[in-house]
Amino acid sequence: MKSIQEALDLMMPVFVPVGTERLAIGDAFGRHLASDIAARFDLPPFTSSSMDGYAVRASEIEGASKETSKTLTLIGESRTGGPLPSPLVKATAMRIFTGAVMPDGADAIVIQEDTNAVEGRVEIRAASKPGAWVRRRGSDLAHHQTMLARGNRIGAGEIGILAAQGISSITVYRKPRVAILSTGDELRDIDEPSVLGSIVNSNAYALAAMVRECGCEPIVLPNVPDDMNATLDALRAGLKCDVLLTVGGVSVGDYDFVKDAFDKVGIEAGFWKVRMKPGKPLVFGRFGAIPVLGLPGNPMSAMVTFEALVRSGLHAMLGDPKPYRLRHSISLAVDHHHVAGRLELARARLSTIDTRWVATPLRLQDSGSLTSWVDVDALLLLAEERASYSAGEMVDALLLRDDTGSATSPFS
Ligand code: AMP
Ligand code: MG
Repeated sequence: MKSIQEALDLMMPVFVPVGTERLAIGDAFGRHLASDIAARFDLPPFTSSSMDGYAVRASEIEGASKETSKTLTLIGESRTGGPLPSPLVKATAMRIFTGAVMPDGADAIVIQEDTNAVEGRVEIRAASKPGAWVRRRGSDLAHHQTMLARGNRIGAGEIGILAAQGISSITVYRKPRVAILSTGDELRDIDEPSVLGSIVNSNAYALAAMVRECGCEPIVLPNVPDDMNATLDALRAGLKCDVLLTVGGVSVGDYDFVKDAFDKVGIEAGFWKVRMKPGKPLVFGRFGAIPVLGLPGNPMSAMVTFEALVRSGLHAMLGDPKPYRLRHSISLAVDHHHVAGRLELARARLSTIDTRWVATPLRLQDSGSLTSWVDVDALLLLAEERASYSAGEMVDALLLRDDTGSATSPFS
C-alpha cells in the first residue's frame, strides 16, 4: 500500500498540460499563462503628476515656507487627457492635475494645499524636492521587462496590467476535459423515481463541482451498472477526454469490476490502494497520455481522495507551477480521537479565537457521511501513528478555501 506522497510521485508525471489556446484577457480569468510576457512600453507611459497642484522647478522654490513664501508667475495648465503642455519657462509655475503630463523643464509638484493662486501668480508656501509627487515614466514597469511569467495565474491584477499594456489576448494552457464515470447497480439519476435500495448518484455532482473548482471542465457520463461489458464500453467513451475519473467498484467486493475493466481496455496499471482514511482502495493508471483514476464510491472517500490526489494533478495540467495546497499548522479547538494506522484527513471547520485559527473536526467522520463535507473549511492531517489529540494541540491542515469568511466585519 502506498503513502499519499508515494502515490503522488507516481501520478504527477502523467498530469501534464494538454496544449494551449489564445483567449481574450477577459475570458482568461483563472487560467495560467503558457509563456512569459514582456512589457510593450513603459508604465506609466509618460511622466505625470500624482497630485493636484503646480508643476515647478524645485531649485526655484528652495526654502519656501508659510513664513517665507515664494511667488511664481502662473503660465498655462496641464490637465488629464488635455493638450500637451508647453515647456515650463524659468520662474514660472504651471497648474497641473492628478495624472496629467508633466511639462518639460518641471521636476517637482507643489500640492495645491501648500499654495495660494491670485491673478496670474501663485504663492508657494512649501518647498518641494526634485521628484516630489511626480510619477516617472517607466517607474512601475520598464519597456521589455518581463511583467508576467509563464505559469502566472490570471487574476484581476494580471488582467489590469495586460489591459494597461494594450494586450487584448494571451496564450494560456487549455482546460482539461475531465470525464466522470459512476458505477453501481444501486445508482439512480437525480430525477429518477426512488426505489428502496437505490441511491442518487451524488458523487457525480459533487465531483463535477470539484473539477470545476479546479478550473477544469467536467464531462459527466451516464451511470454504468456493475457489469463488465457495460463498464468496458463506458471506459472507452471516457477515454476520449483528457482525464478519466471513475467512481465506485474499486474495492474487493464480488461486483467490483472497475480494476479488471481498466486492465481489459488497456489502461496501464500504476497503483492500487493508498494508506489514507477515508480512501484506501484507489486505482491509478494511464492510457497513453491520459491519466485514469478509479476513486472509491463512498462519498467522503471519493471527495477526500480527489482533494488529496486528483486536485493537484488537475492544477498541474492547467500549468499551475504551484499545484499543491499549502500545509498549515492549526490549533485544535477540542479533543479528537481517530483510528491510528492510516493518515486520516478529517473534515473540520475553522474559527478564530483572538485572531488565532482553531479547528473543530466535524462530529461524523464516516466515509459515507454526506453531512461531513457541508460548510467544511479544512482537512486536518492526523498522523497514522497517533490515535488521540488534545484540545490546544497543533495539527497540520489543508485549507480548502482561500477565506472561510466571517459574519462580522474585519474592521469592526
Ligand atoms: P463501492 O466503492 O462501489 O463499493 O461503493 C461504496 C459505497 O459508496 C456504497 O455504499 C455505494 O452505494 C456508495 N456509492 C458508490 N457510488 C456512489 C455514487 N456515485 N454516489 C453516491 N454513493 C455512491
Ligand atoms: Mg459499487
